[in-house]
Amino acid sequence: MSKKIIVIGAGVIGLHCAYYLNQAGFGVEVIEAASESSEEGCSYGNCGLLVPSHFVPLASPEMLRSGLKMMLDRTSPVYLPPGKNISSLPWFLKFIKAANKKAVARAIPTLYKLNDESRKLYEELNTVNNNESGFTNKGLLMAATTEKGLEEELALAGIAKDLGIKTQLLDQQQLKTIEPDVDLRVAGAVLYKSDGNVSPEGYLRWLKSYLKQSGVAFRYDTFVSGFQLEKGKIIAVETSSGKLKADEFVLAAGSYSPKIAASAGVKVPVIAGKGYSFDLAKDKLKLQTPLILTEAKVALTPFNNTVRLGSGMEFNGTIGDISYNRVQAIINRTQKALPNMEKLDAKKLDIWEGLRPVTPTGIPVIGRTNKYNNLLVATGHAMMGVSLGPITGKIISQLVAGEKPGFDMELMKL
Ligand SMILES: Cc1cc2nc3c(=O)[nH]c(=O)nc-3n(C[C@H](O)[C@H](O)[C@H](O)COP(=O)(O)OP(=O)(O)OC[C@H]3O[C@@H](n4cnc5c(N)ncnc54)[C@H](O)[C@@H]3O)c2cc1C
Repeated sequence: MSKKIIVIGAGVIGLHCAYYLNQAGFGVEVIEAASESSEEGCSYGNCGLLVPSHFVPLASPEMLRSGLKMMLDRTSPVYLPPGKNISSLPWFLKFIKAANKKAVARAIPTLYKLNDESRKLYEELNTVNNNESGFTNKGLLMAATTEKGLEEELALAGIAKDLGIKTQLLDQQQLKTIEPDVDLRVAGAVLYKSDGNVSPEGYLRWLKSYLKQSGVAFRYDTFVSGFQLEKGKIIAVETSSGKLKADEFVLAAGSYSPKIAASAGVKVPVIAGKGYSFDLAKDKLKLQTPLILTEAKVALTPFNNTVRLGSGMEFNGTIGDISYNRVQAIINRTQKALPNMEKLDAKKLDIWEGLRPVTPTGIPVIGRTNKYNNLLVATGHAMMGVSLGPITGKIISQLVAGEKPGFDMELMKL
């Protein structure tokens, strides 16, 4: 009989774990606290970008310099709310330790390979779902508003070239031919040709229904509170619907993972990084190619009828307390670079909030825990959960099957 695996969390990570575990022939049950129709979690309102271009980990000397400065500014997209500093101190100390040149150089090839392989898996998945995922491979424009910002982007494009990534430097004139209907006031941009995007809500809707048809069992409205342990093994999860047994357990509960893991004495070094997004009707901003304004730290993704604008990284943020000042500042920065975008008032927008699971290294934690051999963790994908969903699921299924994934797994271990 094949092993039974319980996956905790039906976000983009848990669902891809379920997909590849099911493909490998395991019995899979997904436990999810939210309802089946809920599309509120972090995996839904995000920008859906698939980013082989994002090969530099969050913990880098550059982020340490600019991030710490930004965190003191109440209108900056990166923010640590006062009063939450103490509880997140151990995380920040680890972040500072990880933000060095040597660690960055080691992480770059792995982050790139993970994203690149994952994008290839999206192409395969897109044939399974007959293009229902809104998958596109139009690339991603990394646009800088200042000459200094553009120089930094060019330096990154140099590293990208060494990794074999196809890029193209575009001046204002060339940008005009790509985006004829958008007034882009930037110094220039680097086009990452191998990036793409999906439409998160549509894609996950398809994935959930496909998994159900393929025999994956789902328990929605079921809250996991802890684990039942026996002789150094986990034998069941304790839930609001009682104890549920399995042979192996995959913890993929995003920013909520540390609390669940703690009930078994396992430390998961993840804190929530809150971000915001909202959608604009396409006729208000006729953008065709996904775009990141690098200094403003804003991502814009064109979907079928809308353009989604996403930004913000409030460490230890919580859902339900939108900082309208910060969202307005994000809008104002965006409007400086895109002056023909409609004037917007943050208070009148339908703003979505999402909690990214962020590790201090900027590298996700994927693998078996040392403490319990039948507990695997798959979280901490921060700004790249959608992009890295398929490859994470594939790696988890390989580990459960006793196979060796072809990655530097040491980097991703807990
Ligand atoms: C503004 C913004 C823009 C973004 N843009 C992009 C992008 O362009 N590209 C990209 O790749 N990524 C992007 N991201 C990041 C991406 O959204 C996240 O990395 C990803 O959604 C994390 O997925 P997850 O499955 O780990 O967590 P989640 O989506 O949070 O899923 C975890 C699930 O576990 C469930 N759960 C929690 N606790 C329990 C419990 N006790 N019992 C049972 N179930 C539980 C939750 O209900 C939830 O459904 C963006 C994020 C934000 C905020």
